[in-house]
Amino acid sequence: MEQIHSTDTYRAIAQELAANFAPRAAEWDKSRTYCWQNVAELAEAGIMGMTIPKEYGGKGASYHDAVVVIEEIAKSCTLSARIVVEANMGGISAVMAYGTEAQKRFAAPLVLAGDKPAICITEPEAGSAATEMTTTARRTGDVYVLNGRKHWITGGGVSRLHLIFARVLDEDGEDQGIGGYIVHCDPDNGVEPEGFRVAGREHTLGLCGMPEAELVFEDLVVEDDMVLLPPSGFRRGFADLMNAYNSQRVGAGTIAMGVAAGALEHAKRYLKERHQFGRPLAEFQGLQWMLADMDAGVHASRLMLHEAARSRGPDGSIFPDIMMAARAKAFASETAIKVVNDALQMFGARGYGDKEPLERMYRDVRMFTIGGGTAQILKTQVAGQLLGIKTPQTRDGYAKLAARAGE
Ligand SMILES: Cc1cc2nc3c(=O)[nH]c(=O)nc-3n(C[C@H](O)[C@H](O)[C@H](O)COP(=O)(O)OP(=O)(O)OC[C@H]3O[C@@H](n4cnc5c(N)ncnc54)[C@H](O)[C@@H]3O)c2cc1C
Repeated sequence: MEQIHSTDTYRAIAQELAANFAPRAAEWDKSRTYCWQNVAELAEAGIMGMTIPKEYGGKGASYHDAVVVIEEIAKSCTLSARIVVEANMGGISAVMAYGTEAQKRFAAPLVLAGDKPAICITEPEAGSAATEMTTTARRTGDVYVLNGRKHWITGGGVSRLHLIFARVLDEDGEDQGIGGYIVHCDPDNGVEPEGFRVAGREHTLGLCGMPEAELVFEDLVVEDDMVLLPPSGFRRGFADLMNAYNSQRVGAGTIAMGVAAGALEHAKRYLKERHQFGRPLAEFQGLQWMLADMDAGVHASRLMLHEAARSRGPDGSIFPDIMMAARAKAFASETAIKVVNDALQMFGARGYGDKEPLERMYRDVRMFTIGGGTAQILKTQVAGQLLGIKTPQTRDGYAKLAARAGE
């Protein structure tokens, strides 16, 4: 698809935005407030929804262009970078890929105007074991009625568009698998669906300006036209929707890499600025070798993420390949934690205080081996792909597979 901007133009736009965001980042963190001002600037610059196809008002930009933007923004403001990811990958990608024409026409303008959609999968008793979710969507007459509880929902309370995953029950209570439901909530404009409640907010280590909320659904009615019905039906719904999530994983890995790249820049500056023993820190070989390792980690992460962003899964998928996305996110998130930690170390006590952004970056980057699929779960997926086997994690999973193979 023809693009409005080249990759270099996107990079330049992102660098300009990042320069504006840098001096504000500490304030969002300290006050634990959502960065509405940055959102307005991102929307104005055409970054919110840049991957939405042109016929729906977006720029039709590629995931590769999106990761170039995300890296630049993440160097100065992790919070804003997360908003860019969720406004271009994950939930909105799923709607644009699987939605009806009306759903796309409904969702796209919300995101283009500045909404960061929320994707609602995790529950108190269903984290890594997401398919054990107990939120139900029961067919009742000609609507679905949702009941359940989600937690750690990024943007809960500020997001307007919600993609809620629920176990679909037919009218007889028969399990139909997992499906996705679009719910619009915008109290500022009088859209307050009955049975949809933000029940609380987590107090987090990092990314403090982003609400992580608990959402409760009590007889929440979803009309048929807001069911994000995957093309192959509910039984494959979860697989299709998780396929869309591969794009979000590439985005999340890129935030981690971008934070690490930002920390590396700060480290390079400080090694030349700071003198001890009558010499700049830059002259100490122990620190030079640390710096070289940090650079290699960032570079390797970037290569993997760009490869994943450009990849497509099998069977005509428009989303990144599952193996490349999982490998890149697991590697980039673990590497970034180490890189930022080493950068902070180079700053000594100054890195531990808040005159430099390192302590905030250190707290922010810690999240990325957890949210959006933990490093362990992603590595299990990679191993399964390498070995060409399914990797069920339940106690009787392999026995069930063997029994099925013997049928
Ligand atoms: C900041 C943040 C934002 C989030 N945003 C969202 C969101 O917007 N929407 C949403 O739906 N969810 C969100 N989540 C939830 C996130 O997806 C889950 O935290 C994640 O899937 C892990 O689930 P859990 O926290 O329950 O950990 P658990 O599943 O309880 O795992 C605990 C530990 O055990 C390990 N573990 C579990 N099972 C295995 C296994 N089989 N093999 C090896 N190790 C294993 C895990 O890797 C982890 O280290 C967010 C989380 C965070 C921290």
